[in-house]
Amino acid sequence: MFEKILIANRGEIALRIHRACREMGIKTVAVHSSADADAMHVRLADESVCIGPPSSTDSYLNIPSIIAAAEVTNADAIHPGYGFLSENAKFVDIVTAHGIKFIGPSADHIRMMGDKITAKETMRKLGVPCVPGSEGEVLTLADAEREASKMGYPVIIKASAGGGGRGMKVAVDKEALSEAFSSARSESKLAFGNDAVYMEKYLSGPRHIEVQVLADGQGNVVHLGERDCSLQRRHQKALEESPSPAITDELRSRIGKTVSDAIRDMRYEGVGTIEFLFENDEFYFIEMNTRLQVEHPVTEMITGIDLVQAQINVAAGYPLDLKQEDIKFSGHAIECRVTAEDPRTFAASPGPVTEFHVPGGLGVRVDSALYTGYNIPPYYDSLIAKLIIHAASREECLLRLNRALEEFVVSGIRTTLPLHQEIIHNPEFRDGHYDIHWLEKFIASR
Ligand code: ADP
Repeated sequence: MFEKILIANRGEIALRIHRACREMGIKTVAVHSSADADAMHVRLADESVCIGPPSSTDSYLNIPSIIAAAEVTNADAIHPGYGFLSENAKFVDIVTAHGIKFIGPSADHIRMMGDKITAKETMRKLGVPCVPGSEGEVLTLADAEREASKMGYPVIIKASAGGGGRGMKVAVDKEALSEAFSSARSESKLAFGNDAVYMEKYLSGPRHIEVQVLADGQGNVVHLGERDCSLQRRHQKALEESPSPAITDELRSRIGKTVSDAIRDMRYEGVGTIEFLFENDEFYFIEMNTRLQVEHPVTEMITGIDLVQAQINVAAGYPLDLKQEDIKFSGHAIECRVTAEDPRTFAASPGPVTEFHVPGGLGVRVDSALYTGYNIPPYYDSLIAKLIIHAASREECLLRLNRALEEFVVSGIRTTLPLHQEIIHNPEFRDGHYDIHWLEKFIASR
């Protein structure tokens, strides 16, 4: 087992990884920008190293600084968390070349899934159903028009290197296609340095359902059920739950088996998430994330499995000691992403936190690196806390979530806590009747 892990991240996920290491008797190294010297993960880690100025490019994305920090502190593994370098195959190559273990899949798997065109092709060959669309890259507007008339409008043009909802444009008809095609390409070039795009049929009202897998690269794979992440604003998830109100036991077993078989065939190692759109009882693969997800706690709550510890164990070479029949799903879990944003305008709201009081009690978990007196820097993602609730049923989960939201106090800044309260009181949401467009419509109708 590793003796010391460097955590190449910040915020709640850095703390989350520190906690897993601590319980396993593994020492931790925090790396931080100069703006994060007072951060909670820095305070709690065994050692810390400043890796650069506030800008992410110069700190959390600064590969030479992070490698130097790992060498100076003698760390034998690096956990990337999510975002930043977590899906950067070049980083994995460099980490490996320095004799340090990257906690995650191989660089080849990251490369394969990071290119969405290759990812779809690979999954299709492995028997995973995909959204109908172009075969590979669409090079010219004339090709785009031909593809669109084959699949029928509306269509969506997506960046092959895409992520975070960028480089994605919908065209409702032929007139809109030219603009959508060129703006998807230029947005992708700007964000990812690559203008390759592909096309899909734009599904009108699907749910976003994703399946969590855990694999050891030695042929052992389990799936840990699904998460329903349909509540999104600008293609960004806001609230996630498991099990999905739309998925039956039969559907779960079916898609779980399809996904596990594909992951086993790939000899994939680590945790991974296979994302689908789900409409009329059919699953359509859209992408795979080769890392831990923000919303991983909902799966942990209903399965009792610590995903970060599991990641560390398989990275250290231990075979997975779980079989599919060992995985038991218990009750219901919901996660609310709390961000430092105005709940109406969504304007960023960084600054000093004058009071921070988290809810507690049975089935209440708060993953957050905030504390009273902390000054939220303006340079990074606005996520400040994840409130995760577990209860025997969805109904009880909502009752518990309601009282936890009532107890949660964050003063000095604006947060999206009031938005979550509004969502959970909405009758449609309570009935589980929502798709990927629901939240945007709900926000517009307030
Ligand atoms: P990213 O990697 O940028 O997050 P995804 O491919 O995961 O991109 O898609 C993000 C979201 O965009 C999905 O959850 C869904 O809401 C929407 N989306 C993507 N593809 C389609 C599609 N073919 N039809 C309808 N909505 C889509």
